[in-house]
Amino acid sequence: MKVFVTGGAGYIGSVTTRRLLDAGHSVVVFDSLERGHRAAVDARARLVAGDLRNAAAIRDALAAARPDAVVHFAAFAYVGESMENPGLYFANNVGGGINLAEAMRLAGVKKLVFSSSCATYGHPERVPIDEKVPQRPINPYGESKLQCEGVFRWYERIYGLQPVFLRYFNACGADARFGEDHRPETHLIPLVLDVALGRRPQITIFGEDYATPDGTCIRDYIHVLDLAQAHVLALEKSVSGPFNLGNGDGYSVREVIAAAREVTRHAIPAVTAPRRPGDPDRLVAASAQAREVLGWKPEFPVLSDILQSAWAWKCQHPQGYGE
Ligand code: NAD
Ligand code: UDP
Repeated sequence: MKVFVTGGAGYIGSVTTRRLLDAGHSVVVFDSLERGHRAAVDARARLVAGDLRNAAAIRDALAAARPDAVVHFAAFAYVGESMENPGLYFANNVGGGINLAEAMRLAGVKKLVFSSSCATYGHPERVPIDEKVPQRPINPYGESKLQCEGVFRWYERIYGLQPVFLRYFNACGADARFGEDHRPETHLIPLVLDVALGRRPQITIFGEDYATPDGTCIRDYIHVLDLAQAHVLALEKSVSGPFNLGNGDGYSVREVIAAAREVTRHAIPAVTAPRRPGDPDRLVAASAQAREVLGWKPEFPVLSDILQSAWAWKCQHPQGYGE
């Protein structure tokens, strides 16, 4: 298959591009490089530098590439930033999504795998979260992902688009070549590992008064390689609709820090601070649908293995991609 990957210079996109190439597919990456890295694009893929907000740029790139399918990672993905600048999120994530849908319609490309998020569920009505839990986002980032799902659903009804919504829980870990280098970094695991590397003095725990056994937030940490594999399966199967992707295990912030201490053999000092606005107590996936319909089974469900892979990448790339 010839696959067109938007956002392929980013964290999950770079790992998925490599996995697609290894599976025998050819890949064109479309990325503005605004939040990604040229060095994160596998040399076997062709990189087209362009911005989804430019309707002509995505239309022309897609028409020229004539792919069999699109995997759509490109987006801004910081919850905090979306609360400060919602317009940026709607313009980039929703506007870019509409431009992509139109470009696909014009190029006659039907198959779409879209990076959605557990952030679309907001404070979930029940946990573990299956795909029937009502989506009620609590920040513009989550809302932008939900609106994209809506746009793609209407293109499904009207034009026969075949959209798959992969709703990731907390992506983490690395493969041997590509890892996580967000700037600024806001995610717990890379920040914890930066402390172990001596790049930060301590980790701050945001809130210890949540309704969880140790008072810190619980999340479902899923290896980026397992996410990448779900994209390969979604492309190879004739399916559409939503799939939650997580391990079904929840770990608290304190448990993650404790596991990172074991893996890195570093004390990782931690201090506590007030809650970060908009954090639900507990987000854990029910991924039965992905297992049954896609045949997906996480290969790396153990938190210490995930941390080990992220730590190995960090040790080899202490400055990230160094740009
Ligand atoms: P990332 O920031 O590392 O990668 C996103 C890439 O998209 C970057 O390379 C950036 O330059 C590119 N991009 C952004 N806007 C663009 C535009 N208008 N035109 C062209 N390129 C553009 O993000 P990530 O962590 O790899 O996440 C990938 C996707 O998965 C995002 O859509 C994100 O919302 C979603 N997601 C991520 C997580 C997570 O835990 N990281 C969880 C749920 C969902
Ligand atoms: N977190 C924290 N300190 C940090 C970064 C994150 O305590 O420096 C917490 C955060 O409040 C959340 C969990 O770690 O409960 C996971 O946060 P992350 O930003 O990694 O992912 P999110 O769940 O927001 O997608």
